[in-house]
Amino acid sequence: MDCIFCKIVGGEIPNYTVYEDDNVLAFLDIHPHAKGHTVIVPKKHFVSILEMNDVEWNGLMLGIKKAAERVQEVLHPDGMNIGINDGVAAGQVVQHVHWHIFPRWENDGGGSVHSIIKSGEDIDVAAVAELFKK
Ligand code: AMP
Ligand code: ZN
Repeated sequence: MDCIFCKIVGGEIPNYTVYEDDNVLAFLDIHPHAKGHTVIVPKKHFVSILEMNDVEWNGLMLGIKKAAERVQEVLHPDGMNIGINDGVAAGQVVQHVHWHIFPRWENDGGGSVHSIIKSGEDIDVAAVAELFKK
C-alpha cells in the first residue's frame, strides 16, 4: 500500500521513535510545530477512526497516553495539546489515522484547540440538541 505511515511502521522509511508497542508507533513529526511534536499511528492502516473497532480503539488510546507520558518524561513541557485531523475537511493530509501531540510551554505563543475553528456564533445549540434526541 502506498501509505507513508505504513512504510514507517514497516521500517521502509526511518523515523525518530518516541514510543512503540504492539498497537502503535509514536515518532517525531518531521515538520514540527513545537519541540517534541509527536505523531502516534496505529500499526494497522485505517483512514478514519470510525473504521476502528473498540479493541483497536482502546489499544490506540493507551498508546497515545504512553507516548504522552514519554514526552513529559523527556521534555518536561508545561502542557500538551493532543488531537487528530480526521477527514480532509478537518485538515487530514496523510490518510492513515494519526494523533498529534504538541508539547506546550508557558507563553509559547500558541492557542488552544478552540482556535482550530470559530464559525459557531449563529448556531442554534438547542436545535442541534434536538437532532440528538431522534
Ligand atoms: P496531518 O495534517 O494531520 O495529516 O499530519 C500529517 C503529519 O505527518 C504532518 O505534521 C507531517 O509533518 C507529518 N509527516 C509526514 N511525513 C512524515 C515523516 N516521514 N516522518 C514524520 N512525520 C511526517
Ligand atoms: Zn497506512
